[in-house]
Amino acid sequence: MTRPSLEEMSRRLWDGEEWTLKSDNHPFVPLNVLEEVAPDVGFYKNFSNIVVVRTPEGVVMLDTGSHVALMQQLAFEKIRAYDARRVHTAVYTHGHVDHAYGLPPFLREAAERGWSPPAIVGHEAVPARMRRYIDTPGYNARINARQFGMEMEWPTTADFPTATYHDRMELHVGGVRMILRHARGETDDHTWISIPGASVLVTGDMFIWAAPNCGNPQKVQRYARDWASSLREMSAEDASVLLPGHGVPIYGKDRVRQALLETATYLESLHDQTLALMNEGATIDDVIHTVKPPASLTNRPFLQPIYDEPEFIVRNVWRCYGGWYGGVPSEVKPARRAAQAREIAALAGGVDRLVRRAEELARAGDFRLACHLADWAADAEPTSREVHAARARVYDARVKVETSTMAKGIFRDAAKGSHEIAGDEEAIESQRL
Ligand SMILES: [Zn+2]
Repeated sequence: MTRPSLEEMSRRLWDGEEWTLKSDNHPFVPLNVLEEVAPDVGFYKNFSNIVVVRTPEGVVMLDTGSHVALMQQLAFEKIRAYDARRVHTAVYTHGHVDHAYGLPPFLREAAERGWSPPAIVGHEAVPARMRRYIDTPGYNARINARQFGMEMEWPTTADFPTATYHDRMELHVGGVRMILRHARGETDDHTWISIPGASVLVTGDMFIWAAPNCGNPQKVQRYARDWASSLREMSAEDASVLLPGHGVPIYGKDRVRQALLETATYLESLHDQTLALMNEGATIDDVIHTVKPPASLTNRPFLQPIYDEPEFIVRNVWRCYGGWYGGVPSEVKPARRAAQAREIAALAGGVDRLVRRAEELARAGDFRLACHLADWAADAEPTSREVHAARARVYDARVKVETSTMAKGIFRDAAKGSHEIAGDEEAIESQRL
């Protein structure tokens, strides 16, 4: 079966004939294809995307792809097949390792051929992010392995920008005008790019065919309100093609505008509801169980909670304005988890009661409560193989009903840890595959 064009994939998703939840339509599916989406504008779609602008003075890359050597090589070959001229300039839409770490093969090529190396442009906050990554390899390798459910090497070097900007910057290369603008959103260092001559908008991860990644439980602060404003600014560009950080392009002015404005509305609604509740004195418990995205938008193909999810965005809005105190006074200076868990187990009449009830609740589909009980049981008896075997079953079942990468990753990791303690080799092996 031949693969449909990116435009056809996009249309099918938009029209509801395909669904981003399916693995071959998930925005992160590594297609390894490059298609021209406007005259002299190539779009390379893999796990993350790269935009290649051809000019008489050389190639401009908007994003550079991943730190993983194999992914770099795949991107290099496709881009070189599209245009072999030197890379004049590379722009990072943000400093994440799947966007700003793909230059090494192009830098090696420049050195081998005696070309001057490309200018590297990013927002002025990119270098601090790259230094933070160099300081936190152990932490970042762990949380990303947990998030994606695979072993992960974390880069300890980076190709830092050679030029940064504060608010707005124009690039003119070979007669092509590109306008770079800063926005806080998924990160504090985001750049989105407009190419007015080609009617192309490059969003970086401000648009990824999924509910915005504005709540990620394991990552630093994200900015819902600024994110929404920048989407509204992007829509004013009136572009014909939207090139996202992950997933396929969106084609047609009306669709581009709708995708941007409805994503803005989605974020603003979560933000405004959360802030209103905070002002009324609500606790985190109130807020995360009360705030919901607008019902009119929950069926949109580009707003499904397949990567991040609204409940996590709400927590990030809280963190943007509030402290870490969530409204439960005992949690300000808590007892050790193990001490709490032993006390709860004793009151329940033993750890096996907790375990049995956890499994009952899981069978009834109440995974929120089931997982609390399973965690208390495991914290009360951290080396018990039976307790961990049950906890693994509860979390394995939960992974199946969750939709977001972020939730699935954390629950899969919990199950894996318990399978290891329970000595369940088969389950550990099957999760590795
Ligand atoms: Zn990304």
